[in-house]
Amino acid sequence: MFLDLSQFREPRTHVERTYVPDGGGVVHGLTPQGEREAFRVMGPVRLSFDLLKDGTHYRLAGTVATRLSLDCSRCLEPLDFPVDGVFDLLYVPHTENVAAAEEVEVEEDDLGTAYYRDERIDLGQLMREQFYLAIPMKPLCRESCRGLCPQCGTNLNTGTCACTNSWTDPRLEGLRALAGRRGGEA
Ligand SMILES: [Zn+2]
Ligand SMILES: [Zn+2]
Repeated sequence: MFLDLSQFREPRTHVERTYVPDGGGVVHGLTPQGEREAFRVMGPVRLSFDLLKDGTHYRLAGTVATRLSLDCSRCLEPLDFPVDGVFDLLYVPHTENVAAAEEVEVEEDDLGTAYYRDERIDLGQLMREQFYLAIPMKPLCRESCRGLCPQCGTNLNTGTCACTNSWTDPRLEGLRALAGRRGGEA
């Protein structure tokens, strides 16, 4: 999933790529080995961008679109999450990294700066980063998701359990005890 930069000689080239996930929702080359993602890829990943070459600097400006599946942060059920991301990234050679870091920061203030090495750009990493930028910290299957019973694990969107009514938040219990003590002193 690398973009070989040696094939680009023109100042501007349009690039289109499509990556199809396997049955497990994994796009090969997108996830570093041994890592677990917070998402599964449910449809083809469509990458479309202009590649602008300026010496050893490459600017990639375009879109990435796909359909992800995330786990609801309350009830853990899967939910569909479409991604339609826009990116504008400047890739500089990794060797310039240290020396030019400050310069790049000032010059390219509103552009994301990334690094490439061995004359190739890791498109898997690019897409993965765009996915993580797009997905919410706490995904919800719906705003009103009631989550799981903290005691027995019943999904409270689809069922009820006996323990829901008797369960009280231990933090609230602590506050109540504190309030009671304060009341006694007054
Ligand atoms: Zn939920
Ligand atoms: Zn319960």
